[in-house]
Amino acid sequence: MVATTDEVLELHGRVRECTACPLHLTRTQAVPGYGPVTARVMAVGEAPGENEDREGKPFVGAAGRLLTSLLESVGLDRRDIYITNIVKCRPPRNRDPEPLEVEACSHFLDEQIALLQPDVILLLGRHALQRLLPDAGSISRLHGERVRRDDRVYVPLFHPAAALYNGGLKETLESDMRRVRGYLADAEAARARRAGGASASEMRKVAAVPGGDQMDLF
Ligand code: URA
Repeated sequence: MVATTDEVLELHGRVRECTACPLHLTRTQAVPGYGPVTARVMAVGEAPGENEDREGKPFVGAAGRLLTSLLESVGLDRRDIYITNIVKCRPPRNRDPEPLEVEACSHFLDEQIALLQPDVILLLGRHALQRLLPDAGSISRLHGERVRRDDRVYVPLFHPAAALYNGGLKETLESDMRRVRGYLADAEAARARRAGGASASEMRKVAAVPGGDQMDLF
């Protein structure tokens, strides 16, 4: 069942008030996540940077603009995607998040995934890959691949920030993003099949009820 907006807003409220790790002492504000509750795609980055810390939204700086244009290059609208990070508060001077900070924040990401039930999760960079698929392998081997776990599809991708000043990496991200488009089409088809299967089995149930009114079938 898809989550309600209220459930997601309640979670965002808890993120904003969180004091579970030292990052709350240096943040301007926490950055819970942004996007529609109905999103079928979730993108998970590393941690907010300076712009995100100021605006309270993920991926609003240069890396975010590259992410938007990569999505658009394959016909995806950023507004249809729920975007978040493994760590919800900015690490000072944009250093890597510490293992304890990742650990303290991890239940929020788990809750976001459980609420939204996305079909496809884009793992932006090695930290997101390590957090959600710790045993899968390295980003340089897995980028652009589709990794299936527990009925969900994960796609590790290089972090857009890494591609900002590296044209080769940007080209790799562009071609990986084209593969993502195909994975989404497959996930949508699978969902349609599941929905079709569900209504067919509902129909069988109605037909099997003794004395069931056949009109219910139509
Ligand atoms: N980089 C990230 O990983 N997340 C953001 O929100 C912004 C930049």
